[in-house]
Amino acid sequence: MIGIVVVSHSHTLAHAAVALAGEMLGGQPVRIEIAAGLDEQTFGTDAVAVSEAIAAADSGDGVLVLMDMGSAVLSAELALDLLADDHRVRLCAAPFVEGLIAAAVSASGGADLDEAAAEASNALAGKQTHLDADAGSAPSGISESGRVQRAAEIARVIEWNGRGFVAESAPVSRAEFVVDNPHGLHARPAARLVGAVRGLDSSVLLGNLTTGAGPAPASSLSRIAALGALAGHRLEVAATGADAAEAVDRVLALAARHFDEAPGLVTEAAPVARGTGPLPASPGIGIGPSWQLAAAQFDTADLDDPGRAETPAGERRRLDAAIGRVRAEIDRLRVTAGTEAGIFEAHQVLLDDTEVLDAVHSRISAGMGAAHAWARVLDDGAAELDRLPDEYQRARAGDLRAVRDQVLAELTGRATRTVSRAGVLVAADLTPAQAAALDPAQVMGIVLANGSPTAHSTILVRAHGIPAVVGAGRRVLETAAGTTVALDGQTGALVIDPDPAVLAEFTEHAVAQRLQRAAALAAAGKPAVTRDGVTVHVAANISDLADASAAVRNGADLAGLVRTEFLFLGRADAPSIDEQEQAYRALAEALDGRKLILRTLDVGGDKPLPYIEQAPEANPFLGMRGIRLTLARPELLRDQLTAIGRVAADHPVGVMFPMVTQLSELLAARLMLSEVVPPDIPLDIGIMVEVPATAAKTAAFADHVDFLSIGTNDLTQYAMAAERGNESLGSLADPLDPGVLHLIDMVSRAATGRARVAVCGEAAADPAAAPILLGLGVHELSVGPPAIPLVKAAVRELDSTSCRALATRALTCSSAEEVRALIP
Ligand code: PEP
Ligand code: MG
Repeated sequence: MIGIVVVSHSHTLAHAAVALAGEMLGGQPVRIEIAAGLDEQTFGTDAVAVSEAIAAADSGDGVLVLMDMGSAVLSAELALDLLADDHRVRLCAAPFVEGLIAAAVSASGGADLDEAAAEASNALAGKQTHLDADAGSAPSGISESGRVQRAAEIARVIEWNGRGFVAESAPVSRAEFVVDNPHGLHARPAARLVGAVRGLDSSVLLGNLTTGAGPAPASSLSRIAALGALAGHRLEVAATGADAAEAVDRVLALAARHFDEAPGLVTEAAPVARGTGPLPASPGIGIGPSWQLAAAQFDTADLDDPGRAETPAGERRRLDAAIGRVRAEIDRLRVTAGTEAGIFEAHQVLLDDTEVLDAVHSRISAGMGAAHAWARVLDDGAAELDRLPDEYQRARAGDLRAVRDQVLAELTGRATRTVSRAGVLVAADLTPAQAAALDPAQVMGIVLANGSPTAHSTILVRAHGIPAVVGAGRRVLETAAGTTVALDGQTGALVIDPDPAVLAEFTEHAVAQRLQRAAALAAAGKPAVTRDGVTVHVAANISDLADASAAVRNGADLAGLVRTEFLFLGRADAPSIDEQEQAYRALAEALDGRKLILRTLDVGGDKPLPYIEQAPEANPFLGMRGIRLTLARPELLRDQLTAIGRVAADHPVGVMFPMVTQLSELLAARLMLSEVVPPDIPLDIGIMVEVPATAAKTAAFADHVDFLSIGTNDLTQYAMAAERGNESLGSLADPLDPGVLHLIDMVSRAATGRARVAVCGEAAADPAAAPILLGLGVHELSVGPPAIPLVKAAVRELDSTSCRALATRALTCSSAEEVRALIP
């Protein structure tokens, strides 16, 4: 039998409605769950409670959800995203009381989901027929049928063309206003708006001038929500009828009063300025129960060790090398962790623990493989700690298992396994491999104690579209599993265990964002053209096939950056030419005729490869990375270029070289390219501009390339001398610092008329940065696939002349904060 869920603002109302429905049931009792009110007294709805009610109501035949209005609908929609398991759920627009009774009666008689939904939806028919029979005296402008008539009437005389209302002949009052409520025109302020124009002899429409969404009748709460009006958006109101001027005045007065909303409920709870709290890292709202990564990632009983040596001495050497690499990695993390370095000290000590090492060595001498011996000894140690009475000491077992897994990952060449769970992941930091393995269908948000917005792991999180904040500080790690966490990856707001009012704000904001995204997505297939007709290519940064499909779904014009290193990571040896060709060809095919710009292997820095011997470096970001490494290991580059050339024979392909600092590096790479790719194969050639010296020398490179792609992540870290993974420098590493903007300006000026200029660093996805980058002469923005629709929407709002003026002013600023303050 189907289940029913009742979502209402009022606990009392819902229970009364269910009791009334119960009176009508003649047959089987029906499973009806209630998610209503924030508590018995407080009105409100809670998406988490709705999702729990759905899970409880479902006996396998599906669940019909009936809602009262406004945020009940929004919470029910969000609840679908929060559900951990698969459930067949139907949100039903039927009237609350009549619909519930009809649905309950039909479910009790054995109706399936479709039949019960149809019954519920028709539940008003009887009342309508009855009342319409003696209708004719509805007060003017207030009845539902009157409104429908009004809407039709106004639609005939006013047209919304996405940029404003166009009225041919009718007398229309209109005006513009800016929404300055922190979470935009969500349900509560929208309800105030509906109330303000109710009862007037006027038909009122609203349109969102910032996004083009609209029109929405001001009498409809749900349609207003669909405008996706966020803080800062400009709206136009237009009204006809005898009270038109009064209606517009009321809307403007209400907007000036911030729609009677207390300012900054959430923003006050969590500081949002760069550098003063968690840093925004991946846009979107994440709400859910917190969870942490499972301590043990490898199963000792089933340990696959492909590189096992023949002799115990060989195994000892492999173990020593693996421990050495982990030690170097921990050293690196300790340096970047700043005040949080203590997390890693214990790990370092464990790696040097002679008792542990003696026990492992004696097992290896007895013929056990290094991986098994290491796992066994560390497992025993962790199990011993698990048995201790003191909670703090027991928690150290987690450190032991983390070190165990890091060494096993090095020995076996396998990435540590990341098992995703439903909810918000709270972790100290993530490796790129862990981030890549997260399942966006389950992980609703990520909070990192460390981390930084441009670390590679964060880039992967953004590519997955998982909302995230980073640099939140060690205390977040104390969050008990299951505690509700709410975060806004756009502003950096983070609230652990929010009270119901704050949770409701986040929920409503999440729904508003979803609506805004949906509007942008609907237009994403079209080109991004500024108001004055300049086309900007919006490209995708991708790493794998899933990203390529997401790029196409999100309207990418091309793939502007393929981070090929992800094909090389998490394995024991480099992929062969054939394997690479197959992988690149699959990407090209998924892109369905769109150009694919493959960046050659960019490892080193924060992406070491286990099978490339690299001497430990004090400053890996200033060391052997990118093209420096592949020119030193020419067989790697040659194989990769060969594979790229094969795919370029039948697909539109470009190749670009990372971390180029000297013209001689580019010329050496081009020479190798000419040796392995026949001259008649069309292949665009470019370099990444990531080193300040390269930016300053653009003129030397411009005639040797087809395009230059500015990697603002690295360019910013090198220009500002602020390592991109170091969360304590988050506020320094702002790509809108005028120093970085001057470098971009140099690139663009020197390349004009010689080579195309793209930006593929994370700044390209920052809506605040887009007008400045375009104003500086950038032709292409390459961003993570989920960001494409909103970047395209943002470009369509811009005017290239104003962008140029803005960029010119930005270059005269003295700080990134000043630059950001210029942005409208
Ligand atoms: C960059 O540095 O901006 C860039 C796009 O490359 P990556 O982030 O892969 O280093
Ligand atoms: Mg880079």
